Amino acid sequence: MQTFKNLHGVIDGPSIITVAEKTIQMKKFFLVLSLFVYKVALSQGGDAPADTAWKHIYRAEATKINDLVHTKLDVRFDYGKSYMYGKEWLTVHPHFYPTDSLTLDAKGMNINEVAFFSNGKKTPLKYSYDSMFLRITLNKTYKADESYTVYIDYVAKPDEWKEGGSAAIAGAKGLYFINPRGEEKDKPTEIWTQGETEHNSVWMPTIDKPNQKTTDEISMTVPDKYVTLSNGLLTSQKKNSDGTRTDTWKMDLPHSPYLFFMGVGDYSIIKDSYKGKEVAYYVEKEYAPVAREIFGHTPEMIKFFSEKTGIDYPWPKYNQIVGRDYVSGAMENTTATLHGSSAYQNARQLKDGNDWEDVIAHELFHQWCGDYVTTESWSNITVNESFANFSETIWNEYKYGQDKGDETNYNDMQQYLGSNSANKPLVRFYYADKEDVFDAVSYPKGGRILNMLRHYVGDAAFYASLNKYLTDNKFKNGEAQQLRLAFESITGQDLNWFWNEWYYGTGHPVLDINYVYDDAAHKAYVIVQQKQKQQIFKMPVNIDIYNGANKVRHQVWIQNPVDTFTFDYTTKPDLINFDGDKVLLCNKTDHKTADNYKAQWKYAPLFVDRYEAIDYFGTNNMLTELSWGLNDKYYAIRSFTLDKMKENSAALADATILQSIERIAQNDEHNRTRSRALSLLAATKDPKYKHIFDKAVNDSSYSVAGAALDGLAQLDTANAYALAKKYSADAKGDLDESVTNIIVSAGNEADYDMILKKYNDLPLSQSKLELTAAFCDYLSKLDDEQKIKAGVDKVLAFKNAIPQAYKNFTDPAIKAGLQKIAAAKGGDMQAYVNNALK
Ligand SMILES: [Zn+2]
Repeated sequence: MQTFKNLHGVIDGPSIITVAEKTIQMKKFFLVLSLFVYKVALSQGGDAPADTAWKHIYRAEATKINDLVHTKLDVRFDYGKSYMYGKEWLTVHPHFYPTDSLTLDAKGMNINEVAFFSNGKKTPLKYSYDSMFLRITLNKTYKADESYTVYIDYVAKPDEWKEGGSAAIAGAKGLYFINPRGEEKDKPTEIWTQGETEHNSVWMPTIDKPNQKTTDEISMTVPDKYVTLSNGLLTSQKKNSDGTRTDTWKMDLPHSPYLFFMGVGDYSIIKDSYKGKEVAYYVEKEYAPVAREIFGHTPEMIKFFSEKTGIDYPWPKYNQIVGRDYVSGAMENTTATLHGSSAYQNARQLKDGNDWEDVIAHELFHQWCGDYVTTESWSNITVNESFANFSETIWNEYKYGQDKGDETNYNDMQQYLGSNSANKPLVRFYYADKEDVFDAVSYPKGGRILNMLRHYVGDAAFYASLNKYLTDNKFKNGEAQQLRLAFESITGQDLNWFWNEWYYGTGHPVLDINYVYDDAAHKAYVIVQQKQKQQIFKMPVNIDIYNGANKVRHQVWIQNPVDTFTFDYTTKPDLINFDGDKVLLCNKTDHKTADNYKAQWKYAPLFVDRYEAIDYFGTNNMLTELSWGLNDKYYAIRSFTLDKMKENSAALADATILQSIERIAQNDEHNRTRSRALSLLAATKDPKYKHIFDKAVNDSSYSVAGAALDGLAQLDTANAYALAKKYSADAKGDLDESVTNIIVSAGNEADYDMILKKYNDLPLSQSKLELTAAFCDYLSKLDDEQKIKAGVDKVLAFKNAIPQAYKNFTDPAIKAGLQKIAAAKGGDMQAYVNNALK
């Protein structure tokens, strides 16, 4: 499941560079808010209870009494009631001990009939049902080698089922009817399902635990105008006399119940292939022309991941479908991944890069780590999610080069470090709610732990170990210990120390790194202090010592509260580069000098080396050195350099630097870098750049056009307002943000409906916080009290939706905006606002 990257997209674009634009406080708000969006959206009440009894409840793997073997379903949908009528034939056998009963998860259903099924004959069975569990008394005691089939006739009523969802998934209905009665215009009618964690038992009685595996066959009867998607292969389609059609999908390889999927809707299907297996993309017709631009790398990814894992793609096909109003980012249903509608990007958005590609890689990698070998319990979700997260790094490294891979790794490391999750272990045997494990520890921290492991054992051993883990446990389950045993078997080394620290321990090194040079003795001392509250870490670290471009590498181990490493030298080093591969998951204060950073920029090769140097130059007003970054080979470094310049008024007064920025604004190959350069030119408010904005505002890239429009707004408000109104219907992404800002800032009473809608439609985000001041200014210019009140109510709703933990930061800005309205209007409005703010 993907819960992070998509939120990046919603909040602020996918790159660290955007993060760096904000102040530290903003950064924290942005990073953490992204994890909170769905928790807040979750009106069903997913927040953990205040009591802490859960801290003493060990979350064990589910006991297996019976094992699923095969699940056969025959279902019809009632769009009027949002019901599903189901018939199920479930084949099961006792796990080991003989038993005469079978307990199934079956949530909120009507159970019409339960029978023993043999040779086409049904014999009624006794059962009890309490809306959670269907407890069936079998016709005799069965032994482990005796399979039996029960038949169940039932009605699933997902909209009437109430159960808490999670931070990752808003809601727990399992089966979702989207616009089933066609009442919402502009929204298609769709059905899709979301199983993880244990939600598919809302629409099929099953043993809804990840340590169960079953083959399946699902027949769906749907209106003939729709297409369907499920796991495995479509084996038959039959038209019925009542205008419906019955599609049957078969999955002959066992997988877990939470990975079952059904999708129904009016989709275009764009087909690719991998080694003769179908690879298809199910999208709304509007996106059919760009489906390959969004998903088209999938066959190459399948090949890449097949080669890396040493296991050729194990399933019969791989399809991806996009669902409206999806409750998470994306979900790796076996052979049938479901994406949220943020995957949809039009041709102009794609000019700024495919923001969804990491998610596509993530869900695909789950087909190995998650679906082929599945976590045995939610406590061990790391064996699914950390690998899927890690796959984004290796895909980017392979496809776009080491800088891009390193940037992905660095981004995710910052995301974890900004999340205040140091007290949670990766393997989590204690949690309030099973949905809580889908967090910054299981994803970005876990992905970085795998990246460190890869560097420690080496690429060849890493992938050989992964291959062994996947081969030994295929079509079964794994936990972190199976992974350790596979790595120990391949490397011949005891790796308990690594697992104990990173899988079962908490926190990360918080390092203070100091350098002392003794020229008389020709010795350099590197003093590393571990300052974290949690455990002291034992980890190998490479220390690179540079004399000019000449680099000598030493491997040392940090393992004490303070470690001192001594190196001899003949000439004083230009740079001692701690953690030369920049892989250690840590928070560090690195006491290098300006000269050290200059040497780092010149000689140390990695993305993070250059990023750290630029950060230092920018923070310390070293403009000449900072401007080196404008010519970096990698766009994200150029962008970051521009961001650092934006914070520095001297940079924007430097004619040489401005010339370089102008060049980037007009010619950079990367549109988001151009866009940043344009916004720097805009910040100068110099009319001499107007011709650049006039041209760029018509650029096909939304980010370029948006930044140019912002530039025009600084110089010619009336013209920018007219253009914003012209573009408002088509604008998406960065251009939409600019359009909205300009219309809100310069709009008049006649724009009220559009402005109210734009403000209201913005998700809980940094952008919305930033727009709130302008929106309040706009309201204070209106005369109609009802309209002002309606606007104030929208601001208050936003204020109330922000999680308590962030209100200290967000409330003052929102209050100031509202008080401005109160002061401007006086009288009733003043009382209304003051009362609301009490
Ligand atoms: Zn995932």
